[in-house]
Amino acid sequence: MAIAKSTTRNFKNLIGGKWVSAHSRKTFENRNPAKNRDLVGIFPSSDTRDVSDAVAAAKEAFKTWRLVPAPKRAEILFRAGGILTERKEQYARDMTREMGKVLEETRGDVQEAIDTAFYMAGEGRRMFGNTTPSELQNKFAMSVRMPVGVCGMITPWNFPMAIPSWKLLPAIVCGNTCVIKPAQATPLSTYNLVQALLDAGLPAGVVNIVSGSGSQVGMPIVEHPDVTAISLTGSSEVGRAVGMAAAAGFKPCSLELGGKNAMIVMDDANLDLAVEGALWGAFGTTGQRCTATSRILIHKKIARRFTEQLVERARKLRIGNGLEKGVQVGPQVSQQQVETSAMYVKVAIDEGAKLLTGGKRLQGKAYADGYFFAPTIFGGVKPSMRIAREEVFGPVLSLLEFDNFEHALAIANDVDYGLSAAIYTRDVNQAYRAMRDIDTGIVYINAPTIGAEVHLPFGGVKQTGNGHREGGSGALDFYTTWKSVYVDYSDRLQRAQIDTGE
Ligand code: NAD
Repeated sequence: MAIAKSTTRNFKNLIGGKWVSAHSRKTFENRNPAKNRDLVGIFPSSDTRDVSDAVAAAKEAFKTWRLVPAPKRAEILFRAGGILTERKEQYARDMTREMGKVLEETRGDVQEAIDTAFYMAGEGRRMFGNTTPSELQNKFAMSVRMPVGVCGMITPWNFPMAIPSWKLLPAIVCGNTCVIKPAQATPLSTYNLVQALLDAGLPAGVVNIVSGSGSQVGMPIVEHPDVTAISLTGSSEVGRAVGMAAAAGFKPCSLELGGKNAMIVMDDANLDLAVEGALWGAFGTTGQRCTATSRILIHKKIARRFTEQLVERARKLRIGNGLEKGVQVGPQVSQQQVETSAMYVKVAIDEGAKLLTGGKRLQGKAYADGYFFAPTIFGGVKPSMRIAREEVFGPVLSLLEFDNFEHALAIANDVDYGLSAAIYTRDVNQAYRAMRDIDTGIVYINAPTIGAEVHLPFGGVKQTGNGHREGGSGALDFYTTWKSVYVDYSDRLQRAQIDTGE
């Protein structure tokens, strides 16, 4: 079959403001997961040498960028937000083509980058520190935020513009310079984001892109002695390796990792609303969200009714190429992800779960050239089964039943992850108890587990991360370091904790 070459572009690394090939001259292909013969782009397969060049460029750029007043840095972000708004449709189409999720959702992904650009531009005029009284006379005390230096960033493929924006935009407004490695499945959206920043006037070397694999590019970034902070979004397995390598170099490291997110449906819930939320939470982005609803805990009194409605609606979802009108669920991102979904279907059946719908790769002409997996629902799932405990990262949903509120909370919290959770109830007491007692970084009341907004902290507990948060003003805490400054204007030696002033 002929390869659609017309819109294929050859990309290079961005190092010190120049587009350069990888030292190895090797490349890899970025293909459309809905239509594999569609070659989206060719990207450099980089290695340690390219990382070293990029870090050197970022280190050089840091010397001047850190001295640019933050409100001026922010103006670039503000202009970038405008440029992204103008290009939103094109960038969303590029993203659907490289990643698969439907156009409505990729528009949302670009919108997150726009929102982050405007939000972080505002931080350029805040970035508050503190002034505080000194214990000594004629002495002034304050704490100020300082940039941390060269930030290394490693991103996944499921939010290919939003996640890079959560890292790059706070980092650069704080005066840092960056080396970013996008996921190999979706580099184009990072290039588009960075192109908008360049067109908005970002100086050379402030952001550098090195594309390639985790082992050849990701780890060398983490281990490079001149990289002073690391931010990774990815799986918990990779997070552990990256966190340990960063710790060896005493580097601050922000890890945003996996989830096994539960939605609790109480017997007083608005069932239609809960079914609607379950469909969106479980099958939006084809289940490939870190916050995807992958477990639904249903009160046994309403379990039958809820399950029937949900399965019926799931069967009607329109699966296809995300660029086509009316399609609700796109393909998975790769052959590997389809295989993972299929593997979990087998594991679930072997462990005794009941397949209610889906469970297989979609066949037929319309699906032959892509990675389409049927929306899948398992009933009769027990909390101890692997399907109830491990992240699938595909359109595979587990239904579990509970007896009462306490039982639901116990099941919800009994996993290694702690990213997002939801409860559907009309009982305000239960809702408030859930907000307090569910052990996750994000809780939704009467809404599914997905739908974060950029000005709130994003992240989780347990194996979902290591305590940092992206989004909101808290992101500044990672991309700045505190400096405490004491100004003594007494013209004599004053000794803290010793001179009492008597
Ligand atoms: P992944 O862990 O396989 O890869 C993430 C990134 O790390 C990629 O760029 C990859 O190339 C790189 N990488 C892989 N091995 C590496 C290594 N040894 N050293 C350094 N870098 C390495 O994850 P993925 O498949 O791209 O994304 C899916 C995962 O991301 C899921 O687990 C999902 O839950 C998680 N995720 C988390 C969040 C969050 O904010 N919590 C958001 C989105 C996705």
